[in-house]
Formats: sequence, C-alpha cells, structure tokens
Amino acid sequence: MKKKEHISSFEIMRRTNLEKVYLTILAHHPISRIDISTKTGLNKMTVTNCVRTLLEAKLIFEWEVAETSTGRPPIYLELNYNYGIFIGIEINYLSTKILVTDIVGRVLEQRVDPDVAQRPRNFIIEVSEFVKKYQHGYPQFENGVVAVSIALPGNYDEETGMVEFIANMPQWNGFNIREELKKEIPKIPLFFQNTGRAGAKGEVFSRKVAAETNLAYIQGSKGLGLSIYSRGSEIISSTGYQGRFGHMIIDVDGRECSCGNRGCLERYASIDALGDMLYPGEPMDNELCAEIIRRAKNPDKEMTAALETVIKYLSVGLANIINCFNPQKICIGNYLGMALKGKEKDINEAVNRLLVPFIRDPHKVYISDLDEWGASYGCIALVRGEMLYKAL
Ligand SMILES: [Zn+2]
Repeated sequence: MKKKEHISSFEIMRRTNLEKVYLTILAHHPISRIDISTKTGLNKMTVTNCVRTLLEAKLIFEWEVAETSTGRPPIYLELNYNYGIFIGIEINYLSTKILVTDIVGRVLEQRVDPDVAQRPRNFIIEVSEFVKKYQHGYPQFENGVVAVSIALPGNYDEETGMVEFIANMPQWNGFNIREELKKEIPKIPLFFQNTGRAGAKGEVFSRKVAAETNLAYIQGSKGLGLSIYSRGSEIISSTGYQGRFGHMIIDVDGRECSCGNRGCLERYASIDALGDMLYPGEPMDNELCAEIIRRAKNPDKEMTAALETVIKYLSVGLANIINCFNPQKICIGNYLGMALKGKEKDINEAVNRLLVPFIRDPHKVYISDLDEWGASYGCIALVRGEMLYKAL
C-alpha cells in the first residue's frame, strides 16, 4: 500500500485481493469473472466484490458478447477506454520520447525530440504545453490527463524530487524536476522511475511476455542497463537504481571506460561500441545512432563484422545473467535491440555455447518489438497500476 495508515486486517485482505483482481484484468483483459477466479485462486464471491469496486471506480466496464447458440452469453470485463489520457516520457541522452495513450495503450501521439532534454528548462516548458493541449482538447476522456510519468537514465530522489545523477547529462544533476513541473501543471500527478525498470514494465505491458514471467530486461542505449522483473514487479536495488550491467568487467586489462575502470562490457557491446567500431572519433548522437540502426537492417561487410563482435561480447554478459539468475526470458530493448533485430538465433546460439547443457534454451533471448518506446510504455504501465489506489 502506498500510504502509511492504520488499517484492519480485513481491510488489508480486501486490498490485497483487489490488487490481484486488478493486475489480472490488466494482464488478461478482456476476461470473465470465472477466469479471474481460476487465475487468482480467489473464490467467485470475492472476485465479484472486487470487480464491483473497479466498476464503481470506472476503471473497467462490463462487455457482453453476442448471444451464442449454447446459451447465456459470457460477460467479459474490459478496461474503460475513456478513463483518461496517459503521458509517458523517456528522457534519454540520444533523444526524448513522448508517448500519449489511453488506458489500453492505444497511441494518441508519439514524439521523438533529440534536443528538448538537453536543457531541463526547455523540457519543463514543452511537457507542460503538451499536458495543457491534452487537458482541454479531448473531452471524451473522463479524467483528462491522468498523470505524467517520466523515466530517467539515472538516479532520482523520491523524497525531494531532485535528479541526483545522470552520467551523460550533467545539466540535470541537482535539478528539481518534480518541483519545476508542479509549478507549471500543479494538478497533474507526477511519477518518476529509472529507465531500465520502466523498460521491463513496458515489455509486460505489451504482453509479449506474461505478467508472471521472470524477465531480465536489457536497456540497450548508449550504454547498457539491466532490470529484473519477477512475480509481477521489478526487483529494485537498494538505491532504486537499475543494474549497472554495462559496467560488468569482462576484460581486466581491456578498453578504458568512462566509469574509470577497464574492460567494461558496454565498451564492447552497445550502441556506443558499434559507433566506435564503425565511425571512430565521431561523437554518438541521435543521428549517428539512427544511421547505425539503418545500416544494421541491411548490413554491409563492415557492419556484419561489427554486429558479430557485439554478439560475441554481449553473449558473455547474457550468459553471466543466466548463471546468476536464470530468468525465463531475457529481452534486449531500445536502440541495441533495434540494431540486433533478426539476430535472435545467432545470439541464443552464442549464449548457449557458454552455458552448461541443462540450462541451455534456444529461445531465451529475444528482441523487444517496442523498439525505442519500451521505457515510455513502462511509464504508462506504472500509472495504470497506480490508478487502483484511487479506487481504494
Ligand atoms: Zn565502466
């Protein structure tokens, strides 16, 4: 539960059940009451009571399918398409992505802007204008803009609202993003999280993997991040940060890394590493990243060799993840996923060569279908989950 308050054990049970039912509807909508009962193990009366609360909160509606020859038509529960507008934003060194959807993730607008997050003040102005446009222009949505949810590629202090540290974007360090946005859009709830964690949630949101899956998600941007999603939520480190997967040392005397160490994985297997191999001396930016992804779709000899090198090193990192956690699935997301599209077989084979036979799996590693939008969808997933607490 979000707020600290004294509640009875009966109330705790009611909320736990409500969470189970809501999460099941999010993962499997449209779904009947009986199927919710089967999936959650809750009895039919409890499910009916929880569903009533969600119907009263207008998060869901009942949807009766056409009458069948076999008797009474089943009634399904579906998310309320008109509940409200969700805005998910990923701040990234290469470009900022703004995604606007309804509660089921149907896109109202997608915008990619390579410049807006270079200056925090510009970001605040643009996001505020965006929210105001949607707040007034779409009366069919019952709650207008439900929330703005932002993923950051670094540390964020929940207590103060301050961006603590983004390695490649020092202009954000010490900037109070929550306070500044509140000044412009005081009535809109704001949510913040780390990009890697958001990416994992985006995968579950897109239903490529079941909500119950143990998933390791690789955030393949300029560097590499890792988050682990298990039993319906992400595993959060003690500082709220995603795993610094890219700084796993794979060669103690290897290439120098910006972190001060040598031989970090991301110096060999990332968009930055591809840039170094193919365009030495050119600084990585949105344009160069787009060029690399475009070239990877139809690779020439040099590109093929560079991708093979990335797969060779990345598979070491992936085998290490499997040896530590053995998740059911590993997803490669964002730009690195886009560059490696179509290479799933090669990647799985390279990983399996490094593993003992009994944990090999030819389909464990896959590439996200969400391309660079995974973290933005994860932002929307976070808000959608939180809407339950308004109904309590
Ligand atoms: Zn490093």
